Order: sequence, then structure tokens, then C-alpha cells
Amino acid sequence: MPTLANKLLGKPLVLFLLGLLLIAAVAAYSVVSIQRYSTLLDQSGQVDDRLVELTRLDDGQLTVSQLRSQVAGIVEAERGLVRQQSQAASQQARDSIAIVALGILLSLAVLGLLAFAISRETTRRAKAEDDLNALSTELEDRIKLRTGQLRKKEARLSSILAASPDALIVVGTNGNIAFASDRLQDIFGYAPSEIIGKPIETLMPRRFRHGHSGHLRHFLDDPKAREMGAGLQLFAARKDGSEFPVEISLNPETEGEDLSVVAAIRDVSDRAAVMESLREATNKAKMAELSKSEFLANMSHELRTPMNGVIGFTDLLLSSELNQEQKYHLQLIAESGQSMLVLLNSILDLAKIESGKLKAEHAPFNIQDTIGSSSRLMRVAAEQKGLKLNLKIDSDVPQHVMGDEYRTKQVLTNIVGNAIKFTASGWVSISAAAVGAAGDRKIEITITDTGIGIDRTRQKEIFDEFVQADSSVVRCFGGSGLGLTISQRLLEVLGGGISCESEPGKGTSFVITLPLIEADPLSAGSSCHIDKKQQPDKVARNARILVAEDHDINRVLITALLKQLGYHPDIAEDGAEAIEKIEQAIDDEDPYSIILMDLQMPNVDGMEATRKLRQLGVTNEALPIIAVTAHAYQEDIKACHAAGMQDHLGKPIIKDDLGKVLEKWLPVPTEAEQVRV
Ligand code: ADP
Repeated sequence: MPTLANKLLGKPLVLFLLGLLLIAAVAAYSVVSIQRYSTLLDQSGQVDDRLVELTRLDDGQLTVSQLRSQVAGIVEAERGLVRQQSQAASQQARDSIAIVALGILLSLAVLGLLAFAISRETTRRAKAEDDLNALSTELEDRIKLRTGQLRKKEARLSSILAASPDALIVVGTNGNIAFASDRLQDIFGYAPSEIIGKPIETLMPRRFRHGHSGHLRHFLDDPKAREMGAGLQLFAARKDGSEFPVEISLNPETEGEDLSVVAAIRDVSDRAAVMESLREATNKAKMAELSKSEFLANMSHELRTPMNGVIGFTDLLLSSELNQEQKYHLQLIAESGQSMLVLLNSILDLAKIESGKLKAEHAPFNIQDTIGSSSRLMRVAAEQKGLKLNLKIDSDVPQHVMGDEYRTKQVLTNIVGNAIKFTASGWVSISAAAVGAAGDRKIEITITDTGIGIDRTRQKEIFDEFVQADSSVVRCFGGSGLGLTISQRLLEVLGGGISCESEPGKGTSFVITLPLIEADPLSAGSSCHIDKKQQPDKVARNARILVAEDHDINRVLITALLKQLGYHPDIAEDGAEAIEKIEQAIDDEDPYSIILMDLQMPNVDGMEATRKLRQLGVTNEALPIIAVTAHAYQEDIKACHAAGMQDHLGKPIIKDDLGKVLEKWLPVPTEAEQVRV
């Protein structure tokens, strides 16, 4: 706590005022003394006056007594004066002593105060010095500690830099390298000391150097951490000039006013090599997948051709005179042939889907008709088993939607077919409704049956390839376990989906969803169906028919079928021969009325032959061309129409279908012709 003296010493103005007071006191005392002396002087002046008077009296002959009394008076006055003087002198001496004493006292007091202040100041200074020393020692310790820490950090940083797979460099605003980590030597072949001070372009292939300063400026104008050339393949150049792929990340670094770029450069040659080999492996896998699906497609075609023979001739034989047993055996052959054909088609479909070759149509079609015709198609099978097949389409389901009619029908017949297959008694129902909010509307088709049901644990797996609910299924119902897989994949391609709910012993519900995009009714209606009124009764059986078919068994089959239908066809073994025969017939003024054209033929195939004929001026009306093909996909049919064909007939050829197509496209004979017939 500060003392009064401290306070006073700390205030020079107060000391100054005290000094002034002292001086004023001394001055006042001096004035009083002077006055006292002047009084004494006055009194001594009076004695002198009396002496003068005495002198004058003497001149006037004074008496001795008078003289004596005068002298006595003078002596007395003198004595008084002396007394007074001595009193004044002693008074003065006392005063002086008092003043001196006071002065001494004051001086002593001031000195004391000063000494006190000095001692305090000295102590304070000594303490401050001690504090300062302690502080500087602490500071030194701290500096030592910090230096140690910094060294450790530096050591850690260098080991991090050494362990980093990246070469780190710092580039100044002038574009020169200001720092480089040791890894630079491993990656680029330059020692850091070699490269520091050199322009950054030194590390780049020549072809990229030009214009790089612009990139640097651009970065410095907007400095933020980023990957360099995101999405681009970057290259760097080694000391020996060889190029290699790199990845670079940039970071701005500010030191005071200076801005630099920290770049981490990673050699990604190994990764690029791995990526390259991965790409190669993927390509190989894709090629393998492609050749697998091509192989499957070819195999299925190759198998289908003899199967067509088997099924076709079985069909032919079935319409001949047979005993009961023969008929039964033939029916078994026909059914087995059909199953084999279904399997072949399924494998072909799956191969197409897996190779990504299956493209969905996005054309207007009548969804109500599609659901209705699928139901009609399956009705016979349901009725044969004594099952009721119910159909209900909600009024909010539009008629015309965008999508793939053929694939939608394929899925529907598969699911409804399964429902009938796995239901012994009861019913199967098909119901359709529009669901979802505007912008995300869907058509939901639910197929429910009262059949055997599916165990909960198998309800997901049945969508996998070749999976059936259990091993008894194949024994009791046959099948391949591909139908649901194909349906699910097809629905994915169509932008929809399928789900299943089932209770064993009670029944199953499959829900199919399809995107609901309403279509203009005017544009709906399959482009593949050309409207032509059938006039079966009036068809001329002597109409000239040309069959273009390269496969001998198929030729025999179709000829036999046509003969059974009452026609007498001509045969061409490939497209080129077909063109020749058609031209010859026109020249002979006995043109053909219809061509049944196989698609896959050597030399000139069915498509090319059709295109050529149309180019030669053989019109659609004059000569309808019917494709006879195992490829009855929507895109195949479209391609047939694009080539100039009018209709298509799927293989294996069924006699009824063949008859219907001919009745549809053959010209109605004139009265005279009818008479001739
Ligand atoms: P597949 O019918 O040729 O065996 P799918 O892929 O169509 O092959 O069906 C897979 C399995 O799912 C069938 O074998 C059957 O076990 C089960 N399944 C499909 N639909 C039904 C259904 N409606 N009722 C009961 N089980 C069914």
C-alpha cells in the first residue's frame, strides 16, 4: 500500500508548493527582522539627536548638573539602546537558530523522505530486476521448449513428407518452385536443391507448358483448396523427359502478404495401369458376355429350326387319320416341342436382357386391349382346369398409354400362366388400376389366384434365375424357373416392377407396376398391324404363292401345310432366287399374289430381297410380302415393316395361323375367277 511520503514523492507539484511555503516563511521572517532593525536604528538616531542637542547646549554654556543629567540621560539612553540592541541581537540569534533548526529539521525531513523514497525505489527496482530476470529465465525456458517442439514438429513433418506418396512443392507467385520435398527425387528424378528456384513448368511435359502461367494466375486470383484438372488426365515430366500420369491437389498458402501454392503431386502410373487392365478385363468380360448372348441367340435359332420341323410335322400329322394311342403320343411330342420352344425363347430373352441388347419400345398402345387380350389368350387354359378367370379394369385406367405392348403382354401371359398353372381349383383374377399422384402415376396390375401359394422364405428367391419354389414344382408342374426372372428384368427395362405376396395353401398375388404415361388416342394402335379386312370365304385357292425358304425341312413342312390348306406354292431357295422368280412371273404376266419370305437366308436374305423388290417398283398392293420368322420381337417386326413387308408369321408355323394370314392378304378373286375355281 503506498505511504503518504510515497504519495508526496510521487507528486512533484506538492513538493514544489512545500518549498515555496518555506521560502515565503523565511522571507516573512526577514521582513519582520528588518523592521525591528529599522526601529533600533530610529532609536539610535534619537540618541544621536540628543547628543547634537547636548552639543548645542554646551555652546550655550550649560550647567554641570544639567550636563550631568544630560549625560546620565544619554548614558541611560545608550544603555537602553545597548540593551535593546543586545535583546534584538539575542532575539535575532534565537530566531536564526530557530530558522536554522527549522531548516535543518525540514531538510532532515525532506532528506528522510528522499532516503525513504530512494530506498523504496531501490527495493522496487531490485524486485523488478528480479522479476525481470525470472521472466527472462522463464522466457528462455519457453523458447527452449518451443524450439524443441518446433524441432520435433519439423522432424515429424519431414518424416510425414518422406512417408507421403506425394511429392510436395511450394510455388511462389512468380511461378518458381520455392520448396520441394525429398519425394520429388523418387518421382521426378530431381533432387529438391536442383529444382528449387526453377519455374514450375520444368516438371511438365513440353506440350502443356504453354499457357500454364494462365492457370497459375487463375488459381492465385481465386485461391482455394482444389483438385487440379478435375476429371482430366494430367501428365508430368520426369528429369529424363519421360511422361507419366499424375494427380495434383492444390492448396493456397499465405505468409504475410505473400501467397504461394502448395501442390501435392501423386504418380498414378500404377493406378492407371491397373485401371487399364481393369478396362481390358471389363471389355473382355463384355465381349465374353456378348459372345455368350450371341452364342445363345445363335444356338436358340439353330435349335428352333429343327424344333419348328418337329412341331410343324407333329401338327401336320395330328390332322391326319390316326388311332387314339398314336394321337396321344403325337400330342405329347407337340407339347414337349412347345415346352422346348418356350425354354429356347426364355434363354434367348435372358441373353438379350443380360447383354443390354433388349430395348423397350416407347410407343402408344391400348393397355386395356393388351390386358384384355392376354386374359382371353389364357382363358382356354383356365377353363380346361375348371378355373374362373376374372378381369376387372378400373375406369381410371386410360386406354392409350406409352410403352411396350409386346413386352407388357409377355409379362402378363407369363404371370397369369403361372397363376393358372399353380392353381388346382378356385379362380384367378386380373385387376388393373391407376395409382399414384400426378407426375408419378402408375398402372398397377394385380394377378391373384387361389393356388398352392409360395412359402414366405422363397418369395424373394423365385425371382432368381432357374429358381423354383421347391424341388417338387418341376416334377408336378414342369417349367424352368426363368419366367419370373425374365418378367422382373423386362419390367425393369420398362420402368416398372413386380412384387409378390403369398400364403401357402391359400393363394398368391403378384403386383405388376408400369409407368402410366397417357398417349394421344389418335397416335395409338400398333404400327405393326396393318388393317386389312379378312374375307376367308372368298380367297382364291389357286392364288400364286411363292415361298422363299433355304431350310429343306421347313420347305417341305410349309409346302405340306399349304397343300393341306388347298394352295400350290412355288419355292425359291434364297432371296436372289425369289427376286428372279417374281420378276419372271411379272414378265410372264402371271404374277405372284403373295410371298412367304424367310428372313435368314444365304446370299440375299429376306430383308434385302424385300427392299430390292420394292425398289424395283413391286408395290405393297400388288405383292404383299409376309415375313416368316422365328424372331418375332417388336423390333424384328418393325424392321420387317421398314424393309417393305406387310405382316409376319412366327415359326414354328401353325397351320391355322398360316391359313389366317393368307386369307387376310390374298386378293379377293373376281366373279369370273370364282366361277373358274
Ligand atoms: P417356372 O414357372 O417356369 O417354374 P417362374 O420363374 O415363372 O418359373 O416361377 C418360379 C417359381 O415361382 C415357380 O416354379 C413356382 O414355384 C413359383 N411360382 C410362380 N408363380 C406362382 C404362383 N402363382 N403360385 C405359386 N407358385 C408360383
